[in-house]
Formats: sequence, C-alpha cells, structure tokens
Amino acid sequence: MKKIALLGATGSIGQSTIEVVKRHPDEFKIVLASAHSRIDKLLNYAQEVPIDHLVITGENGVDRTGHANNIHKGEDTLLSLLEEIDYDIMLNAVVGSAGLKYTVAGLKTGHNIALANKESLVMAGDIITELARENHCKIIPVDSEHSAIMQCLEGVQDISQVHRIILTASGGPFSNLKIEAFKNITLKDALQHPTWAMGDKITIDSATMANKGLEVIEAHYLFDVSFDEIDVLIHPQSVIHSMVEYIDGSIISQLSSPDMKIPIQYALSYPDRLDATAQYTDLAKIHELTFYKPNFEKFPLLRMAFEVGKNGGIMPTIFNAANEAAVTLFLQEKISFIEITKIIERELSVPNIHEPDLETIIEKDKEIKEKIYTNY
Ligand code: NAD
Ligand code: MG
Repeated sequence: MKKIALLGATGSIGQSTIEVVKRHPDEFKIVLASAHSRIDKLLNYAQEVPIDHLVITGENGVDRTGHANNIHKGEDTLLSLLEEIDYDIMLNAVVGSAGLKYTVAGLKTGHNIALANKESLVMAGDIITELARENHCKIIPVDSEHSAIMQCLEGVQDISQVHRIILTASGGPFSNLKIEAFKNITLKDALQHPTWAMGDKITIDSATMANKGLEVIEAHYLFDVSFDEIDVLIHPQSVIHSMVEYIDGSIISQLSSPDMKIPIQYALSYPDRLDATAQYTDLAKIHELTFYKPNFEKFPLLRMAFEVGKNGGIMPTIFNAANEAAVTLFLQEKISFIEITKIIERELSVPNIHEPDLETIIEKDKEIKEKIYTNY
C-alpha cells in the first residue's frame, strides 16, 4: 500500500488522482489532501476514499478546523504536516509558483515526488534536481509528455544514446487560426481546448503554447538534455504523447487516448503497472496521426521559453511569473489574448541573475506578479 500526500486535490489533476485511488483501493491510500479553497469538495472526497488529513491553505478557506475529519488550515500547517506525517510519495498538483515550496518540502524530507506542478522545475530546476540527488528521491513526471518520455527512455543507461527528444503538442484551439485574427480571441474561445480537459490556467497556457514552452524547460531538467536536443511537433490528435529519437535513427513513442489518469496512475504505481482506470485506446477509431512544425510567429511564447531556458538563471522565473499574472488578468477579462505575450516580453528585458538561490527566486516571482497586477 503506497501512502500518498495529494496537494491541489480539488483541481483537475487532483480529481483524476482520486479516480485512480478509488480504482485501486488496495494499492493506494491518501494520507493527506490539500486545496486552496473548497473544503466542501475535500469533504466529499473523504466520503469516497479514506483520507487522514484535510488541509485548506487559502486565507478565505472555510474554518472547520477540528472537525472529525482532521481538518487543518494554512500553508505553514501544511508544511509542518509534510514533515511530521508518514507518506511514501507526494503528488504535487498545485497550480503555479505556489507549488514550489511543497516540492522543496517533499524532497528535503526524503520523499519521492509525482510532479504535476511543472512550475517547480521551471523556476528552480537546478535546485530541485540537486535536492533530489542529495536526498536520493525520484521526481516522477505526471505531465503526459514527460511521462511518455520517461517510458520511452526506460532501460537506457546513457543519455548520450539519445539524439533528440520530440515533445508533441496539440497546438491548442488556435493552431489553424490566421495571425490577423488573434486580436479578436475571446476568453471563451481560449478556454475551448480541442483534446484535453484541464484547469483554466493550463488551458490558457495551451492556447498561447506557453505550456509547451514550460514543458521544454521541464524536459531539460528532468532528462538532463540540452535545449538544442529538444524539438516540438504539433500533433493535433494528442495520441502520441511524446517521442525519443535515438542516435541510430529509431524513434520510440508512447500512445494512448488523451486522459491524464494514465500518466497519474503510472507516476503513482511506478515502476509497476496496474489495470487501467482510463478507457483502453481504440486506435482503429483514430484513423490518422499527423505532425507539423509549430509556428513561432503565431506562438512567440514558445520561442521565448526556449530562450529563457537557454539563458537560465532568474529568466525562467520571470517568464513563469509574468505568464501567471498575465493569464490571471486574461481570465479576469482585464486584458486581451495578445496582451499576454506583450506583458511577458516587457518583463524579460532586464539583466539576468545567475544561480539565484530559492529566496531570490521566490522574491522575484512575488515582485513580478505584484508589479503586473498594480498596472492593471
Ligand atoms: P487546477 O486549477 O484545476 O487546480 C489547482 C489546485 O491547486 C486546486 O486544488 C487549488 O485549490 C490548488 N491551489 C491553487 N492555488 C494554490 C495555492 N496558492 N496554494 C496551494 N494550493 C493552491 O489545476 P490543474 O489543471 O489540476 O493543474 C495543476 C498542475 O498540474 C499545474 O501545474 C499544471 O500545469 C499541471 N498539469 C495539469 C494538467 C491537466 O490536465 N490539468 C496536465 C499536465 C500538467
Ligand atoms: Mg503536458
């Protein structure tokens, strides 16, 4: 029985994780579930599967502390619980930069991390991978592309056998839209993802392709490959979740219908496999798999992510923070779709800070967001 600390339980990934645990009650036990708000949803989960501790981290979380279900409140309480309680793996499904401190807390206490919160690696990839090494912990990707790459790399002893990593992307809802029409994109248009059902933030990131940019940086740190060895290909069917091309020209890929329950379950069961929670894939119904190159002119955030990734230092943190703030403003309908890119571009025109420590990274994230919010 694996004991899981599930952070960000009420979100899209959190909800799918509950499904996986319900399907395998003899394999998995949730010992802690956290959310920023929505105690009602956490309490509903606790009726479906046994959960020892429920934690609400948001200021406005309903105060039901001391309830029979062991309800706690506050970020500091959550961080203390992550030190005190007994668990085997943390699944970090918090959205945004808020997830970083929990990844750090899990690694510092010697826990393996099933990582959905890609922002942790984007902001502090060097620090996180070093912490994992020092504490002998595994970071197992939940992101479908990185789960695919991990599976395509299984059995490989030496990364120099790899010629390149090919990250696939659905292309989002606007891959066929003319660039002239981007100025008219509405919030409703951007929230219509063609293949995946996800939380709002990552859905907008998929529409701008900032998500693929964050994933390029995530892949660089997870698999220790240079940015020149990572390619992005648009694959509208979202069936091939990514590929590895070896130096001899062989390409290995992982396929399934687009359902996050598959990579979530594999991250939790790794290195074993368990019966599927998701539907099996009927390839005969898919008919065709197509691929084409991304258009950097229409999706400049993908190009910028490669640049900030190569520059390293504080630049990925600035990119990520500006993106989070701009996406929040877009979700509040305070700015247009194309302004997301303009805001991020503006923030990136500053000198780099090399090898920033964790405090500097967290401070910069806060500073950039506050600056952007006060301007709108
Ligand atoms: P979501 O918005 O649906 O859920 C986010 C969760 O985080 C909620 O439980 C919320 O209560 C919690 N949360 C929000 N702000 C918080 C804060 N300040 N402190 C603590 N908890 C907070 O998000 P999601 O779509 O489930 O995505 C979660 C993470 O997984 C993101 O990093 C995303 O990039 C990644 N991811 C998601 C998908 C997907 O299919 N949804 C796929 C790949 C990767
Ligand atoms: Mg992904």
